[in-house]
Amino acid sequence: MKTPRVNINLKQIEENAGRLKEWCTVRGINLTGVLKGAAGDIRVMEAFLRGGIESLGDSRLRNIIKFREAGFSGEIVLLRLPQLNEVNEIIQYADVSLVSEETTIRALGTAARKADKVHGIIIMVDVGDLREGVLPEDLEDFIRGIVNLSGIEIRGLGTNVGCYGGVLPSRENTRLLVDLKARIEKKLGINLPVVSGGNTATTILFEENSLPVGINNLRVGEAILQGTDITNQRVIRGLNHNNFTLTASIIEIKEKPSVPTGEIGCDAFGNKPEYPDRGIRKRAILAVGRQDMKLDGLTPALDKAEIMGASSDHLLVDITEVDRELRIGDEMEFYLDYGAMLAVMTSPYVYKNYLG
Ligand SMILES: *Cc1c(COP(=O)(O)O)cnc(C)c1O
Repeated sequence: MKTPRVNINLKQIEENAGRLKEWCTVRGINLTGVLKGAAGDIRVMEAFLRGGIESLGDSRLRNIIKFREAGFSGEIVLLRLPQLNEVNEIIQYADVSLVSEETTIRALGTAARKADKVHGIIIMVDVGDLREGVLPEDLEDFIRGIVNLSGIEIRGLGTNVGCYGGVLPSRENTRLLVDLKARIEKKLGINLPVVSGGNTATTILFEENSLPVGINNLRVGEAILQGTDITNQRVIRGLNHNNFTLTASIIEIKEKPSVPTGEIGCDAFGNKPEYPDRGIRKRAILAVGRQDMKLDGLTPALDKAEIMGASSDHLLVDITEVDRELRIGDEMEFYLDYGAMLAVMTSPYVYKNYLG
C-alpha cells in the first residue's frame, strides 16, 4: 500500500458519533457534528450520518459544498464567521451561519431575499475566550439593530471557548449564555430557541453533571473524530481513540553520531538546532515531512522509538532502543493529536486508507 497514508477507522468514528448523539439526546441537546478536523472528508461524513448525526457543521464553505454534492440534504451550519464575498454561496449551501457582525448579517439578508430564502443565524457571544463574538454588554443593542431584518431568522445565541484564549468551559461562563437569552427574550419580546453552548471542550460539563439547563445545542468535532479533548487535556472515556493514524516508510537506517559535524547555522525553517551528545545512535529516515504532517502531535506507535525532527520531506526517528529489527521498506505508524490529524488530512501528498 502507498505511503505516506492516513488510516481512517470509519467504524470507530461511527461508534463515537452514535455515543455522542446518545449523550446529547438524553440531556435534551441537539448535536451538530463538526467535520472540519477531517477536512470535509465524505467517507467520514457518511460515518457521522450512520452514527445518527442529523446536523453537520464545518468552517469551510468548500467542504459544505462537497457535503451537498454528496447528497446530504439535512441541516448544515457554517461555523466560521461568513466572509462578505461568499454570502451568495452560503445562502445556497448552508442553512445556518454563526455571526457576530451587523454588516455581514445585512449582506446575508440581502442575498437570502434575492434568492427568495430565509437564512438562519446564531449570534455568537464572547464569554471570555476572545475569539469571535459580541461582548455580553453589547448584545442587546446589537440584536435591536437586526431584529427586523427580512431574509434572516435569528435562531438563537452561541458561544465558543477553548480555541484562542484557551479559556475553559465552566458552569458559570456557559450559564451566562442561558441568562442572556432569557433577558433578551423578555426585553425585546422575541424568541431565541437555540442556545449553542460550545464544542468538544464543553462536554466535560456532562461528567460533573454541571451543564446548565437551557443549553440545547453543541457543535462537536474532536470528540467524535479522535475521542479526545485537547483543551481539557483529556482522553474521553467511553469513546474510541486513534481513529486517524499516519503510516510512513523507512528509506534509510544508519548509525550516526548525535551531534552534526561542521559549524551549525539554521535548519530549513530558520531555527538554530541544539544537539545533546548521546553518542552514536541508530536512526531511521522516513519518507514523510513537514509538507505532509505536523511534527508535534505525532507519537510513534512503536515502543521506544523517539522522534528526532523533520525537514520538508524527511522524518528522523531514533530507533536505538527499539526491540524489533527494522529494515528499509518497513512501515512505521504514528498516533495523531487533533492538530496533527488536521495537517495530514489537508495535505494533498498523504494517501487515504479507509478501515471498517
Ligand atoms: C471547530 C469548531 C467547533 C468544533 O470544535 P471541536 O473542538 O472539534 O469540537 C465548534 N464551533 C466552532 C465555532 C468551531 O470553529
